[in-house]
Amino acid sequence: MTTENTPQPAGDIRWHEHAISREDRWAKQNSRGCTLWLTGLSGAGKSTIANAAAHQLFASGVPAYVLDGDNLRHGLNVDLGFSDTDRAENVRRVGEVALLLADAGFVVFVPIISPFFAGRQAVRQRHESAGLGFAEVFIATSVEECAERDTKGLYAKAAKGELTGLTGVNAPYEAPRSPEMTLLTSQRSVETCAEELLSGMNHLWS
Ligand code: ADP
Repeated sequence: MTTENTPQPAGDIRWHEHAISREDRWAKQNSRGCTLWLTGLSGAGKSTIANAAAHQLFASGVPAYVLDGDNLRHGLNVDLGFSDTDRAENVRRVGEVALLLADAGFVVFVPIISPFFAGRQAVRQRHESAGLGFAEVFIATSVEECAERDTKGLYAKAAKGELTGLTGVNAPYEAPRSPEMTLLTSQRSVETCAEELLSGMNHLWS
């Protein structure tokens, strides 16, 4: 499960095959794990859509999990800030956790800004080489609309010069080049977006 983009383990570290195969685990749980990676600006709707879709999927009996980037910053990623290097490491770690949960059989929703193409591509490659389904979903809400919503007050702060490093305003965002899905959220309900996501991607788990 390695690619040229991931560091290799140092020393005499060997890969151990699991006593329970992925196939056996998935068959027993009647599930197929995969990762849906929702990228977009702050306030685009990533978390809202991820939670609505996961809730709907879970209600239909599919194991679903939302891997929230902010929540992981309370623990696993508590040592990381918002420099380009730390953001890249944040994405790498979240990608690795998603991969483990997908391997365990969950449909993993990952709402995370993940501004750089290379980081998202590396996570994709890690899933592909592990034989796990992966889809990049671009939550394509314009910066103007995100600023109007301003759910966390970040755009107002940036406008007043009190915040630097806000993606799409004073920090770069590299939009996906060929996402599996692009979701427009403007003038559309959360439910409509969640349903579009689930119906477009359900080949990954059903
Ligand atoms: P992000 O996770 O991308 O930072 P959030 O999901 O936290 O964004 O916030 C998005 C905001 O936009 C919420 O207040 C949500 O209610 C609102 N919103 C309006 N329309 C939509 C939509 N179609 N899909 C998702 N969110 C929407």
